[in-house]
Amino acid sequence: MKVMKFGGTSVGKPHRMHEVAKLVTKDEESKIVVLSALSGTTNALVEISASLARGDRSAAKEQIDALDLHYQQFIQELLSDKTALTKAKAVIAEHFEFLTIILKISFSEALNKDILAQGELLSTKLFCIYLEEKKIDHILLPALDFMTIDGYDEPQIGAIKVKLAQLLQRNKDKNIFVTQGYISRNAKGEVDNLKRGGSDYSASLIAAAINASVCEIWTDIDGMHNNDPRIVKKTVPIEQLSFEEAAELAYFGAKILHPASIWPAQYFNVPVRLLNTLFPEAKGTLITEKAGSVGVKAVAAKDGITAIKIKSSRMLLAYGFLRKVFEVFEKYRTSIDMITTSEVAVSVTIDNDIYLGEITRELEVFGTVEIDTNQAIVSIVGNEITETKDIMEKLFESISSIPVRMVSYGGSRHNISLLIARSYKEETLQLLNVGLFGLD
Ligand code: ADP
Ligand code: ASP
Ligand code: MG
Repeated sequence: MKVMKFGGTSVGKPHRMHEVAKLVTKDEESKIVVLSALSGTTNALVEISASLARGDRSAAKEQIDALDLHYQQFIQELLSDKTALTKAKAVIAEHFEFLTIILKISFSEALNKDILAQGELLSTKLFCIYLEEKKIDHILLPALDFMTIDGYDEPQIGAIKVKLAQLLQRNKDKNIFVTQGYISRNAKGEVDNLKRGGSDYSASLIAAAINASVCEIWTDIDGMHNNDPRIVKKTVPIEQLSFEEAAELAYFGAKILHPASIWPAQYFNVPVRLLNTLFPEAKGTLITEKAGSVGVKAVAAKDGITAIKIKSSRMLLAYGFLRKVFEVFEKYRTSIDMITTSEVAVSVTIDNDIYLGEITRELEVFGTVEIDTNQAIVSIVGNEITETKDIMEKLFESISSIPVRMVSYGGSRHNISLLIARSYKEETLQLLNVGLFGLD
């Protein structure tokens, strides 16, 4: 059994959804088809929520109506059968009625999660109606029946495995199972989600839970590229990556994969394939435990980074100092991405600054604290990259015009990370494209 995940652009237009139906019926292998919301929907739902949060009901109403209209038009092109259209209209009415009702109730975080879930609920139901119209046998497995996260927002892989096995057992005669990406149920039993871009994570968790033959991530590009195609003009796809390399790239900003989406597949050794719905014949990228080759494979950048420097003369020869510093971050459940130390100072970076005020106050007990916001981490990733000859020389030669704030080398053999001001991100990625890959 395999997993096939289709992202927002892959289901975002009626004819794209038709293509998805073709792709899932191409072979006989049984499969769980994980769908994202139609492209633009989750962003629209975020905006609706934001309008409600600030009490602007008329803006929310307008946004809901615009989205409703989008879906009305979508089904006209998706379906041709009258019965199917009636069913689809009923589905849309049900979900937009819910959105209209929430205009009248007071906003809460739980309600926000309910709103955000509507996109995947809609896309999967509409896709199933299309499959039915085409007489393609299938069944919808509601993700809210098996995808659970604990009190720390961590997926409960053991429970997911058991629940999913039961659901599959109950529907043994089926070959195509359709489910929602992104959405989950939390420890309180409420509707929740796996954070933006989380459908990749859903797919990988499902693939791990059922020990899938492969986890296919279908998107709008032919695999992981060597650099960010949104920023750099000339980028090329990478044929093969190891789980470690892919995980580093996903974590450090390659948007094609959700930051946490590799570990479940890696842990249960399920190969991941990144494929292009717009060009299904393209090789894409295969991610397994093997790296394929040694050396630099790709660069990625993650912004929204804050650097924190703690300077303390007391640090000199003081064992236990770092533990105390780390305990502050642990207390506020804020993870550290990069760290560098000197005899009198330690610098760390974080990407979640919700508790920055509290953290700063507690760190000030140890010494002087300096904060730099608006930073970016640029990661250079490749198998055994730190052992690659002349890599540092080449790297710093190519970006000699960029002021580098921190360097992390040797933390893993597959990654070298640099911290720069956010404003240099585009230029740095472009310079690295020339310097490391010879692509202009
Ligand atoms: P989906 O909706 O299918 O989940 P996403 O928009 O989340 O698609 O991810 C695909 C996009 O990721 C691509 O269109 C591309 O612009 C972007 N991207 C960023 N970095 C990379 C990279 N290194 N390789 C490929 N795509 C990347
Ligand atoms: N629809 C969700 C989002 O836009 C999840 C996903 O697309 O992966 O973030
Ligand atoms: Mg995505």
